Amino acid sequence: MQLSDKYSFLTNYFLKAKNTNNYSAFQSILFYGSDLQSQYDLALYIAKLLNCEKNFDEYCNCQNCRWIDSHEHPAVVTVSKVDYKTDDDTSKTVISLKQTQMVKSSLTTTSDYHRVFIFCDKGNDGEILGLNQINFQEESANALLKIIEEPPRNTTFIFLTRDKNDVLQTIQSRCMAFFVPSFELENYDYDLILDVFQDYFTFERQNVFDIAGDLFELSKENTPLKILESIQNYILCLIKKNNDNKQFVYKLIEDLKQIETAKKQVQLNINPQNVFEDLCLKIIK
Ligand SMILES: [Zn+2]
Repeated sequence: MQLSDKYSFLTNYFLKAKNTNNYSAFQSILFYGSDLQSQYDLALYIAKLLNCEKNFDEYCNCQNCRWIDSHEHPAVVTVSKVDYKTDDDTSKTVISLKQTQMVKSSLTTTSDYHRVFIFCDKGNDGEILGLNQINFQEESANALLKIIEEPPRNTTFIFLTRDKNDVLQTIQSRCMAFFVPSFELENYDYDLILDVFQDYFTFERQNVFDIAGDLFELSKENTPLKILESIQNYILCLIKKNNDNKQFVYKLIEDLKQIETAKKQVQLNINPQNVFEDLCLKIIK
């Protein structure tokens, strides 16, 4: 499935920003969610959009788009604990101060390209992982604050992370943050909750506690986490089916964020009944 099908609510936003010369949309971007590879793909999508020599589309074959696809573009840089390091940089587990200073000094020269810096972490097999306060510590991050607040012309910073709060508040507050839902990790099984939760977006606010009660009952036969994952799968399917209905998709994405919060609460052993009530209060309006 193409990125622009899966994430049309994001790709359309950036396409429109580009077409209307709204470059403030491309200064500093924070992607968060559990699918880090898709975040990275979105970052490359943005890099191609900004550097394409032709009429950009995902299959473009121009020199710049090809370079970006093969990770050879001179101005599109991945910064991680294993990328963009000098030989004398001995740090192996973090994005070092040396690296962020190198990013900064690279900006003092002009570039014919639109520069894109993608900050992330990498696993042992090169898989994309998210930034956190261990691999991207305060000292290195602080060196960037000024330039990510007001990047030079033709420069974009993109940060990838699992949870927004995994990056320092000072970085968060200087970025436009976008939740990137995962379509990959789930099995799309949501039969469990259909009887109780189908078309929940049509439910009446006055029935919130009954609905939460039904979910709680269901969670006794399964687990609260299983019920929340089923709801999540159900919403992901709704997003796919309703891709054209921008406003509805926007609501669904907001609901997904609430599910993420509820999952965390359950993992923290908060009383599931309270979790379901809290969730239903937030998503049934
Ligand atoms: Zn191109």
